[in-house]
Amino acid sequence: MQVVNNLQDLNKALHVETNKSIGFVPTMGDLHDGHLSLVQRSKEKSDFTVVSIFINPTQFDNPNDFSNYPVNLEYDLSVLKKYNIDLVFIPKFKELFQQENKVNFPLNGLDQVLEGRHRKGHFNGVLRVLNIFFKLIKPQYAFFGEKDYQQFLIVNLLAKNQFKNIEIILCPTRRLQTGLAMSSRNSRLSPDQQKIASKIYETLNFCKMNFSFSKIKELESVCLEKLKDFSDPEYFEIRNSINLSNKINKEDKCRAFVATKLSNVRLIDNLAIN
Ligand code: AMP
Repeated sequence: MQVVNNLQDLNKALHVETNKSIGFVPTMGDLHDGHLSLVQRSKEKSDFTVVSIFINPTQFDNPNDFSNYPVNLEYDLSVLKKYNIDLVFIPKFKELFQQENKVNFPLNGLDQVLEGRHRKGHFNGVLRVLNIFFKLIKPQYAFFGEKDYQQFLIVNLLAKNQFKNIEIILCPTRRLQTGLAMSSRNSRLSPDQQKIASKIYETLNFCKMNFSFSKIKELESVCLEKLKDFSDPEYFEIRNSINLSNKINKEDKCRAFVATKLSNVRLIDNLAIN
């Protein structure tokens, strides 16, 4: 496993591999089984897997969230080594963003709702860094988790507009036995709080069970009340899975999306509900 920190070494490592299909898994580190399921999928599908570890400051709207973001580099590298990953890229901010060429394409409002509405500039930051990574690494496949489903839709647009040769692959959300979606942020919760946080998934499932025979707005507000019993919700919304519209036709594929805070730790999750 090669570990590189600069562009010269990255290019050298990638140059050797010109005939092989490259799978790319971008992460912010502090790896858990959710990340590793993406890594595993890349290993299965590609000849050469690149994992990046980079806490991207441009996608954080809250400086505290950025400075408190867990770092676990030694562990991350040891686990990636066990997975026999070909290349780990741990760039420095300055050198990476010197490579930026700004792109502009329509996001069809996908960045204006849910996370985009509640974390100003978040998706702009995500797109900025992925635009650089995609340009440098030129993968055939890039792997993203369903846990960040809105991100997946937006990254798909980036690929369609700027990187037609990259296939964006969605990997299912990995959960703890309790149902809580795995997240690096879970480590900031006590074991008791983690147990309580599993009620987020319970609420999503409640929504799924009641979706076919409920009025959307009523169901959303019942779910919001359920979240308020144990946390401080930012939103609970049912939206169309393709375009994130809130004009719901129950025959279309729909998802419930949630963001809520438990003792100031912000957790998100979503579930296909039909
Ligand atoms: P992050 O390190 O949070 O930026 O996540 C890196 C990638 O891992 C993103 O594509 C996430 O959607 C994905 N991911 C994070 N948590 C999970 C999970 N519990 N299950 C599946 N994928 C995940």
